[in-house]
Amino acid sequence: MAQAAVIGAGLAGCEAAHILSRMGVHVRLFEMKPVRRSPAHNSDKFCELVCSNSLRSNKLDNAVGLLKEELRRLGSLIMEAADKTAVPAGGALAVDRESFASYVTEAVKNDPNIEVITEEISEIPEGPVIIATGPLTDGKLLASIEELLGESLHFFDAAAPIVTLDSLDMSKVSRASRYERGSDYLNCPMTRLEYFTFVRALLAAETAPLHEFENIKVFEGCMPVEAMARRGDMTLAYGPMKPVGLKGCTASDGKPPFAVVQLRQDNSEGTLFNIVGFQTNLKFGEQKRVFGMIPGLEKAEFVRYGVMHRNSFLRSPKHLTPFYSLRMRPKIYFAGQITGVEGYIESASSGFTAGLNLGLQLLGKNKIDFTRQTAIGSLAHYVSEYNGGSFQPMNANFGIMESLPDAPRDKYKRYLALSERALEYIDMMISEDELWK
Ligand SMILES: Cc1cc2nc3c(=O)[nH]c(=O)nc-3n(C[C@H](O)[C@H](O)[C@H](O)COP(=O)(O)OP(=O)(O)OC[C@H]3O[C@@H](n4cnc5c(N)ncnc54)[C@H](O)[C@@H]3O)c2cc1C
Repeated sequence: MAQAAVIGAGLAGCEAAHILSRMGVHVRLFEMKPVRRSPAHNSDKFCELVCSNSLRSNKLDNAVGLLKEELRRLGSLIMEAADKTAVPAGGALAVDRESFASYVTEAVKNDPNIEVITEEISEIPEGPVIIATGPLTDGKLLASIEELLGESLHFFDAAAPIVTLDSLDMSKVSRASRYERGSDYLNCPMTRLEYFTFVRALLAAETAPLHEFENIKVFEGCMPVEAMARRGDMTLAYGPMKPVGLKGCTASDGKPPFAVVQLRQDNSEGTLFNIVGFQTNLKFGEQKRVFGMIPGLEKAEFVRYGVMHRNSFLRSPKHLTPFYSLRMRPKIYFAGQITGVEGYIESASSGFTAGLNLGLQLLGKNKIDFTRQTAIGSLAHYVSEYNGGSFQPMNANFGIMESLPDAPRDKYKRYLALSERALEYIDMMISEDELWK
């Protein structure tokens, strides 16, 4: 019987162990709880949801809703547990976190192909392995991964929100770089009144609590926009919102802008833009409300909100393949948030892809590429192929999927069409492969 090790019984590790077991691989699943818990984990069960109990949208006009449906059809343990333990949450899928964790823990512990071993792993073991130790991976294991990769893992302390180009009001936005250096940026010009109204709202907005284990020193070097605004009314206008070097850019009163918010392209397709200098610790609802006051962003769709927490992740485009295996050591896989996917279901999806492909490798079969036509595949391709300036973790979103040749202009119809194509692809794959029979 083929054998593999999985380190970490979180969302990615449990999903990976489950699919490996389904393929007839004997899995040794190492989990350090209850011997040791990360500062964010409170329970001794597997698959603990460390913060919100919401797994976000359950609808097909949303990419994470699509990702859920793809995983359901592929037989995901995490989706089975989520559907069985759901609580009412409108169009979202939220779960009773205790029942959810218990369901997965029981399923994994009762699986005859999975041997659960309570142990903190301090070195990458020999042989086929999936490392799924999460964003708070630390200590000797972290050092061992860093030694293998020859570089330190990124510490993601602050990120600015990312919005879709589609959702912007382009009648208020102009495209230009400062000092006529091309037209790479989108500029959202503000009048004096708009600027001061915005700064007041920013100063009054509610921030998310910082966790005690997070190193406050880190944040001083990467100032959140609200902290910058606290230094003085004009700090932003002299800083990231300075209105200089933008010829021909006018605000809503027809005059040169008093301040400008710039958006920078975030993916090679030009469908996603980040708000430059707007790394933030505001609560997500507050980001939507306050950043929605920026001209052009009134109806912005946020594919990722700004976040601040410790988050170790690989420079995956350099190190990983779209199967989540290491380019230089093909039997070592990574899965979950440590690969640069962001979110519970995204982590489970990478666990599924990594487990499936390690299983196929061990059974001497061809690997499966879900391609950028699916949500599950587009995340794998994003983390392994991102070619922009600075690689940052990413939620599932339609902007990283392959666009449709004759895409409907209407956004809602376009998203549904992308979902339809993705699910047809998954269904075809399932019908053609013995694996799912
Ligand atoms: C403070 C905080 C809040 C978050 N809030 C949200 C949220 O609201 N919504 C959301 O979608 N995402 C949130 N996230 C991101 C969240 O961590 C991921 O979505 C998800 O939990 C990642 O799954 P994972 O399987 O990669 O890691 P985890 O779920 O963290 O699982 C990793 C597992 O590995 C074990 N482990 C670690 N090191 C070792 C070792 N050396 N040996 C053996 N076992 C080990 C851990 O005990 C843990 O059980 C948050 C993250 C943090 C840090």
